[in-house]
Amino acid sequence: MTRLALVTGGTRGIGAAISRELARVGYRVAAVYLGNAESAEALRQEIGCAVFKWDVADYLACEAGVHNVVRTFGGPIEILVNNAGITRDVMLHKMSPQQWDSVITCDLTSCFNMCHATIGTMREHGFGRIINVSSINGQKGQVGQTNYSAAKAGMIGFTKALALESAAKGITVNAIAPGYIATDMVTAVSTEVLQGIQAQIPIGRFGQPDEIARIVTFLVSEEAKFITGATITANGGQYMA
Ligand code: NDP
Repeated sequence: MTRLALVTGGTRGIGAAISRELARVGYRVAAVYLGNAESAEALRQEIGCAVFKWDVADYLACEAGVHNVVRTFGGPIEILVNNAGITRDVMLHKMSPQQWDSVITCDLTSCFNMCHATIGTMREHGFGRIINVSSINGQKGQVGQTNYSAAKAGMIGFTKALALESAAKGITVNAIAPGYIATDMVTAVSTEVLQGIQAQIPIGRFGQPDEIARIVTFLVSEEAKFITGATITANGGQYMA
């Protein structure tokens, strides 16, 4: 049977591209979303994946959700892509504790929740691939994003530590740090700001979701089994980590 991959936030934007690409190269795909059932259903019909709704910021929901996925597919999750993420941009002096917490829990604590729910079985089976979708702004910082930059930098440290813990068990753990990718998250920003950002990208354009998805399919493949604890940067030359 082909391996089972779970992609959080796997029904829109970068996550949908990852789900598509994993399905295209032959994995069974479970995509998790939060509330946009229309996009989830459209992707399900398009690529024949299974879609599941839960909040990855919620520890117990992740435990129950993973249980449900495993029961539905009749086997363990072997590939985990922690991709779900949100922004709540505001300067620190105006940031509410709620704006801080929501980004830290959705973007960073979710990695703990999902890895905690899946890694025991990966360790037992001696195989696993975990990919954490971080961000250029976790590498370099960004105005208005102390919450997001902290969460995304945290994912990189989390990746390195878990890679060390898991290396002897056949599990690789890597991060991807995308630059600006044309998705709803980015197009929500004003045109003026977007033009300013684009001018700072040496390649001269935003990235496309499938350009990140193809890094995922490489990292989960047999060819990438010696790569662990790495952060793969894909940002059009905007920041050289
Ligand atoms: P989108 O906003 O387009 O999509 C986000 C996805 O995550 C949706 O499927 C959404 O579900 C899901 N989601 C959000 N919160 C939760 C939650 N609490 N529980 C479960 N699912 C959730 O985001 P992008 O595709 O742009 O970004 C994907 C990842 O890439 C994020 O982690 C982001 O930080 C990172 N990234 C993005 C960049 C960009 O330029 N776009 C650059 C660098 C990093 P629903 O559809 O139900 O809302």
